[in-house]
Amino acid sequence: MRRVAIALLHHPVLDRDRRIVTTAITNLDLHDIARSARTYALEQFFVVHPVRAQRDLALRVREHWTHGSGARRIPDRSVALQILSVVATLEEALAEFGRGEPVDLWTTSASAQIGVKTYLDGRAELREPGPPVLLLFGTGWGLADELYARANVRLEPIRSVGPDGYNHLSVRAAAAITFDRLLGGAG
Ligand code: SAM
Repeated sequence: MRRVAIALLHHPVLDRDRRIVTTAITNLDLHDIARSARTYALEQFFVVHPVRAQRDLALRVREHWTHGSGARRIPDRSVALQILSVVATLEEALAEFGRGEPVDLWTTSASAQIGVKTYLDGRAELREPGPPVLLLFGTGWGLADELYARANVRLEPIRSVGPDGYNHLSVRAAAAITFDRLLGGAG
């Protein structure tokens, strides 16, 4: 099984006019994605933010739940937040997770990118030997195009089952579904 981690990017991501922006960290993302990632045995959850004050905020949340009064009150959450790493750039996440070895980047999106891979194929690939995999998730209106251009794998979108095609999931829901499709057990 290949080593797998997730990176939640707050830059470079798009706004509604497809301009590249930096988004603010959402507290709920830290908690919910850490818990899902821990459940599916991902090794690390990288929160990527270029602004120091935002990184400090995420580190305070982590500290509260791993060592502060939160850890004493709800130990389950402490276990999950221990896998949270807060970094300034994607390169930092790659360096930390790869430990000097190359890392494959797998992107996610609500819209189909060129040359997408199905979850079934992705799931099989993760069970073959290969470099560690960093799953990239966006905030705002999604990951910037440069990240899709750079990706080793562009995962297919989680599709709508409704007639209007609506499939715009919160990043928390999209991450949990993706983990289950790629890493989950049968039942
Ligand atoms: N503020 C928003 C929220 O509610 O969380 C952030 C939206 S952001 C565009 C959601 C991210 O979740 C996307 O960048 C992508 O990584 C993932 N995502 C959302 N819908 C998806 C889908 N249908 N298929 C695959 N990934 C999806």
